Amino acid sequence: MPVTDAIVRRLHEILIRVADIKNQINRGPKQLQLAQTQLQAAKDAVSQCKDSIKQKRLEADRKQLQQREREAKIYEWQGKMNAATNNREYQTIKEQIAADTQANSVLSDEIFEILEASDAAHTLLGELEAKLVVVQADTANAEARIHERMTVLRGDLERAEGELRATEAEIPPDFIDTYQRMVESRGEEAMAPLDDKSCGGCNTTLPPRLLDQLRLGNPIPCSSCGRLLYRPE
Ligand SMILES: [Zn+2]
Repeated sequence: MPVTDAIVRRLHEILIRVADIKNQINRGPKQLQLAQTQLQAAKDAVSQCKDSIKQKRLEADRKQLQQREREAKIYEWQGKMNAATNNREYQTIKEQIAADTQANSVLSDEIFEILEASDAAHTLLGELEAKLVVVQADTANAEARIHERMTVLRGDLERAEGELRATEAEIPPDFIDTYQRMVESRGEEAMAPLDDKSCGGCNTTLPPRLLDQLRLGNPIPCSSCGRLLYRPE
């Protein structure tokens, strides 16, 4: 009994379905990874912001210590200035005090800027932490959805593969080897429906001799791409 295009059509339809389900299942881990990457990015943003706040606090502390040390020095200079024995010494110390006072004033401005930046970073941290809570919930939802979808898909795949096995059992014996070779090397690309007068796989217009065969219901390989052609329903 020669193979009919009805069985080739059914096999192709199931092979396409199986391939599509497998593709969707294969995308699962990538989707899970994407959700995890987004979560990690939100976590990183929070920890980077915390680091930056810590750095600013250390910098402000360092500058404040420097400021206090210089204040102590100025106090010392003032004692020496009062005890100066000549005008030149007095002037030198006075200039030193003026220079240190100026330097401390610059430091004050710098400390103020750091504290302002630190305030801004605290505000940002609040926003990033709120965003992290949202991303965590989104990620948990996405993961649950993906796992649920995978369960459905695995069920679909099992059914489709069962259907495929049952249909393959109907393949006439003299076509079995050809079919297995075709599917092994090209998968669902091994077959194509006729599209008007062209191959549904490669779009090549088919010669009349081939079209006649196809119209009789005999599956025939495309003369161009080799896909086994069949009439669409
Ligand atoms: Zn073709």
